[in-house]
Amino acid sequence: MDFPQRLIEGYSTFLSERLPREQSRFRALAESGQRPEIMVVGCADSRVSPEVIFDARPGELFVVRNIANIIPPYEPDTRSHGVSAAIEFGIFALQVKHVVVLGHAQCGGVRAFAEDGEPLTPGDFIGNWMKLLAPAAAKVDRAKLSPADYLTRLEQANITNSLANLMTFPRLAKLIESGKVATHGAYFGVATGEMSVLDRASGEFRRVAAEAYAQALKAPRF
Ligand SMILES: [Zn+2]
Repeated sequence: MDFPQRLIEGYSTFLSERLPREQSRFRALAESGQRPEIMVVGCADSRVSPEVIFDARPGELFVVRNIANIIPPYEPDTRSHGVSAAIEFGIFALQVKHVVVLGHAQCGGVRAFAEDGEPLTPGDFIGNWMKLLAPAAAKVDRAKLSPADYLTRLEQANITNSLANLMTFPRLAKLIESGKVATHGAYFGVATGEMSVLDRASGEFRRVAAEAYAQALKAPRF
């Protein structure tokens, strides 16, 4: 099969629009290396691109994406841990100051976990991966919630659980405790475009930039 035409077209648009604006920045980043201050752990979902949502320029965000934006706990064994390797690189090589776990509404990974109570076959990567959601699910009282509310609460509990798992990395926990690295949870409403951020004191997710959001909805589209 040919290389997708959609990508050729997108690259052509990048060459005519973004590259001219960013060329000096790309050159400087190539010479001096990247120095992003923010790491984002997001879902691989095609609707939740951190660079798009946060309007990021080249070199600004160090991004790792996986199914359901999960940070696994610290497991120093001989297996290959892609997310943990990315965290190690972001924290200790790039020395990012912030780690943001970005979850989202209508997360297919979270829904799959909620709907398939039974574990999938042992050889199934997704089934095994989604088991990492179990500690989050244990904190949400499903019986008291509508199916839609349950998914939202589970998506948000998954963010909180990923942040808790960051604290199981011993060297990182020290940096967080001493205030050198800050961790944050964020939740993006795919249909609405609303963004909420975890309030550590209450454990609730609270809207941010609500005024800008209201303005955006008020502005005439065309
Ligand atoms: Zn997702």
